[in-house]
Amino acid sequence: MKFQKTYVLNLTSVVFITILCSLLQGSDAIQQCQVRCPNHYAGCLWEGRMRSAEEHMFTVCNFQITPCKFQDLGCNFKDLRKNMKEHESNADEKHKKITLLSVLRLTQKRDTLKIGQRIGHKSGKLLQSQGR
Ligand SMILES: [Zn+2]
Ligand SMILES: [Zn+2]
Repeated sequence: MKFQKTYVLNLTSVVFITILCSLLQGSDAIQQCQVRCPNHYAGCLWEGRMRSAEEHMFTVCNFQITPCKFQDLGCNFKDLRKNMKEHESNADEKHKKITLLSVLRLTQKRDTLKIGQRIGHKSGKLLQSQGR
């Protein structure tokens, strides 16, 4: 995807500028650096202190590629942050489904563990009762 490539390049430049600032004028200087959002190529109008740039990108920037909130549960969708609301409403059913599935999987895992413990403790008795 076109935007993803831009994002990687610009994140590198954020890190680079941060390091440069701290090398040149000490770590306080990072606060003084006025920067544009690294995603301004994509259309973001944000400007601010270098220090807040990373926070802006990862929490609010609408032009930042972000993974779906349900990523850990199995949704691999990624898009600009401004498009995520639309995805969330479009994929509502899918999200409910994968949430339910992972809850079920966790419950199963928990039960398997419990059964495993029970069998471990009472394996002798269990074998006896099966024989009858
Ligand atoms: Zn931005
Ligand atoms: Zn999703």
